Amino acid sequence: MTLRLSLEKLLYDRERLRRELEARLPRESVVRATSDYHSRKPPRPCGFTVHSAVGCSFACTYCYLPDMGVSYASARPYGLKGDEMVLALLSNPYFLPGRLGPPIAIGSIGEPFADSGTTQKTLEYLAAFSRYLGNPTQFSTKAALGGDIARHLAGLKLPLSPLVTVVTLKRSTALEPGAPSPEARLEAIRRLREHGLNPILFLRPLIPGVNTDELDDLLSEARRHGAVGVVVGGFRATASNLLRLARAGVDLSEVKRRLPRQPAPGEQVPLELHDLKQEVVRLARERGLTPFLSACCANNFTAFLHDALRAPCPGLDFIDGKFCTRCPVDCPNLRTEVDPEEVSRMVRRFAGESGSVEVDDRWLVIRGVKRRKLNPVHKYLLEVGYRRRVVLK
Ligand code: SF4
Ligand code: SF4
Repeated sequence: MTLRLSLEKLLYDRERLRRELEARLPRESVVRATSDYHSRKPPRPCGFTVHSAVGCSFACTYCYLPDMGVSYASARPYGLKGDEMVLALLSNPYFLPGRLGPPIAIGSIGEPFADSGTTQKTLEYLAAFSRYLGNPTQFSTKAALGGDIARHLAGLKLPLSPLVTVVTLKRSTALEPGAPSPEARLEAIRRLREHGLNPILFLRPLIPGVNTDELDDLLSEARRHGAVGVVVGGFRATASNLLRLARAGVDLSEVKRRLPRQPAPGEQVPLELHDLKQEVVRLARERGLTPFLSACCANNFTAFLHDALRAPCPGLDFIDGKFCTRCPVDCPNLRTEVDPEEVSRMVRRFAGESGSVEVDDRWLVIRGVKRRKLNPVHKYLLEVGYRRRVVLK
């Protein structure tokens, strides 16, 4: 059956849920949620990043948290309660709730399971997302998740995508001195899988000449422990992580060869790693893992494994991007149904003028509406809600 998409319905659901929560929460919670920065920050390519933890205690040599002014010596739970975080998201003009809304990603500026405080906060957020939202939700971790947590996570009614980071089996003492061992993380993958979740190996950062001789072993071990896929991600060099890696005795000759320029203080310089990423994609397929070049795709894939709903990836990479690896969701061949009259109504509601709208399988071509009337929020909502690129003519 063709999937029918309605932005009008998603916006209606957002407003209904927002009012319901606002009415139920104490006044100070509403103020805290609606003034929090999760209520206004624009989404990232991986979706809505949610911080259940700020900071991390694992002190990886390659980490760039310190360059962002965030501690990698300690982690603290975020200040909002679970219901408050939901209200913050529902108050964000870009956000849409539900399985067809944009993905949520936890763990971008801190380790969500660093200690008991951050673990409790992460579980509280996931429970609240499960109760109210249902968006595909991903977390990334280096923690040695035990059976109790795996069981708890598996009990959530949420399309959940666990990413477990393992980037080296041989050099963890130099690269990740404070993190649980790679073996403990592989065990976490096994536990998550045993409880019915679909863990994915997070192979980031790929550091050329440092961990790239281990790719085959990493993929094979992840597969053996039950990973269903792998997300491969690059390396961002900073002045301070290069210095720490050199001090730890890591050979950086290949990193330097690929470095486009020396990073200025506080600057993050990504390395060009297209060839190595393609090598991971090839090896992963040989080892029976589904490869991804973007975490958002892995989130969409895991949601599909969870409920068998084939929904095009909200990142729209299958239309004009370079990250689609043709996973089993098969976005390039999916067809969805959209009511052109509804799209016209939405354009009129956003821009105050209707113009004309042409809807095809991949594009929404809007004519006769002034460019400045359709702001980035409107464009984002139209693109995610209808899974089509907006073209203004
Ligand atoms: S686990 Fe991640 S956030 Fe924590 S120190 Fe290591 S790289 Fe940084
Ligand atoms: S088919 Fe492509 S765009 Fe869709 S989820 Fe898979 S990798 Fe991503």
